[in-house]
Amino acid sequence: MQLTEPFVFMGGTFDPIHHGHLRTALELQQWLQVKQVTLIPSGEPVHRVAPGCSARDRLAMARLAVSDASSLYVDSCEVDSPEPSYSALTLRALRRQLGSERPICMVMGMDAFLSLPQWKDWHTFLSLCHIIAVARPGYAYVADDTMEAFTRRHQVSSVEAFWKKPCGGVMIHELTPLGISATQIRDLISQGKTPRYLMPDQVWEYIKQHQLYGYQRGDWISDAN
Ligand code: ATP
Ligand code: MG
Repeated sequence: MQLTEPFVFMGGTFDPIHHGHLRTALELQQWLQVKQVTLIPSGEPVHRVAPGCSARDRLAMARLAVSDASSLYVDSCEVDSPEPSYSALTLRALRRQLGSERPICMVMGMDAFLSLPQWKDWHTFLSLCHIIAVARPGYAYVADDTMEAFTRRHQVSSVEAFWKKPCGGVMIHELTPLGISATQIRDLISQGKTPRYLMPDQVWEYIKQHQLYGYQRGDWISDAN
């Protein structure tokens, strides 16, 4: 028997959001058969260098990207919070908000999953949520001993098994592989090249309008791109 509608979310810097994020979220929504997948852009990230633009801009771009997709939702909880963006804090807040019975599932790309031991309080995560790690081109599942043991111990084999509990399971899943990264997009823009079709057009328009990531009108061979 399934407990109440699962809450599925994907955190990230989304600096900027791109089709790798969006397609991943949408394919998971279909595969897991949930109504919605929530994207949670980080405030000030703690595991990485400062983002290329403000949290408000990253949030605005994420909202633009999902504005016509009812199965994707952007939550501003981390951007609005005065606390640093630790997943452990977000998970505890979600659990308080949603109650102890509702399944919560955190989605992450393989690079993020394999780096989990560097995340604050990562050992508490499975007492608060399930984890789905999605394959990502360029990041094979080559786990160190810690992650190998962690995966083996908690891995479940079906979505049905996942939803029988509110938390505690790990699944590794393959989706349409899209080798897009926000780093690649930031690099293209700073080199005066277009990132068009790697991300929604509305997001690219926002970047040009706000002159983010070093974009400067006039530097471009054609601003029509
Ligand atoms: P950056 O290059 O700045 O690190 P990114 O493209 O990795 O950006 P993040 O915001 O760091 O994007 O990633 C948020 C989440 O989305 C992470 O769990 C990451 O693994 C996942 N992700 C990002 N791009 C992809 C992709 N192309 N396919 C699958 N998962 C992805
Ligand atoms: Mg990343």
